[in-house]
Amino acid sequence: MKLNENYSQLKESYLFSEVARKVGAFQAANPDKKVIRMGIGDVTLPLAQTVITALHKAVDEMGTAATFRGYGPEQGYDFLRTAIKDYYKQAGVEIDIDEIFVSDGAKSDIGNITDLFSKDNTVLVPDPVYPVYVDTNIMNGRNMLYMDGNAQNGFLPMPNKNVRADIIYLCSPNNPTGACYTKAQLKEWVDYALENKAVILFDSAYESFVSDKELPRSIYSVEGAKKCAVEFCSLSKTAGFTGLRCGYTIVPKTIESEGLSLNKMWLRRQTTKFNGVPYIVQRAAEAVFSEDGIKETRAMVAHYKQNAQIIAKTMEETGTRYFGGINSPYIWFECPYNMDSWSFFDFMLDKIAVVGTPGAGFGKNGNNFFRLTAFNSRENTVEAMERFKSLTK
Ligand code: PLP
Repeated sequence: MKLNENYSQLKESYLFSEVARKVGAFQAANPDKKVIRMGIGDVTLPLAQTVITALHKAVDEMGTAATFRGYGPEQGYDFLRTAIKDYYKQAGVEIDIDEIFVSDGAKSDIGNITDLFSKDNTVLVPDPVYPVYVDTNIMNGRNMLYMDGNAQNGFLPMPNKNVRADIIYLCSPNNPTGACYTKAQLKEWVDYALENKAVILFDSAYESFVSDKELPRSIYSVEGAKKCAVEFCSLSKTAGFTGLRCGYTIVPKTIESEGLSLNKMWLRRQTTKFNGVPYIVQRAAEAVFSEDGIKETRAMVAHYKQNAQIIAKTMEETGTRYFGGINSPYIWFECPYNMDSWSFFDFMLDKIAVVGTPGAGFGKNGNNFFRLTAFNSRENTVEAMERFKSLTK
């Protein structure tokens, strides 16, 4: 037996374990101090009432022979795929039901889709970005190219004609920077992909945080995208499903290469290796797209967005250069006093007992930046920002 040696090329993922270790040591040494955690990108509000009601109803159905469900369609029940199709339609985007694949979340699909592409492809990834894109391709032994996100380009790298790539990852609104591509910028990416016969893997996990009507929430609002882009979406941040687990991926039927259809390959892959999302979870997801569900989950997103505003305002008041926070739950700021991100982490924990995420964990361009998240109570957010003001005085 031989193991996949590519795994030995992965960098040790010590970001969150190191953060937890440092916070644990600090709390042990300072048992009376209240530590405010603004590091991990997990939601804090409970599920919406409409979702809870749908879950209870579906659980009861499973207890009666007439309504019990066993194995379901791997790509998702039609009731949920129809609800997703209608959600896109409301945003002016037409998607066929058989282009929609329901999953247990965006992370699985983002990782699993690498099955469909040849090992010879060159992959282009922004730096900084959500680390899953890099790691899943390293596991497959692909050649990786990085494009720099920095303060000059607003952390929104654009195509370079001199760089040839086959698979391009874009994340908008971005984790960790909160930066959001405009429609014109995404059009440049779509044109580049069509010209190079490349595919864009577009991660829109944070689309529900976009409130600026001019900014695209789906790459399919750009002409030509259905010929070159796959879109990953998730109910994790939109509706607090990080523990319940449900997402969806759009694989257009119009993406082909050398006579092979990406949509048919993904269907084949999913029906072979995946058993679908639990019925009760899909009923809960369907409820998210109902009129009440949308109202309730948008109120949850609005709560986080108000926290983001409070953080952004504090950055302005303290003269700290920052990105994101308007159409995103993330605020990405330059570490004060020219500190690197791990030194700033220690400094902030030690002086004000607030925890964030060092930018270095998202790529080399994050070395002098820091991520705070809006996923917290109002009270904690306000208190953390009052403490932050004292830090930069
Ligand atoms: N994509 C991005 C950019 C994320 O930040 C996350 C989670 O933090 C995901 C995808 C994964 O989402 P899910 O919970 O649906 O797997």
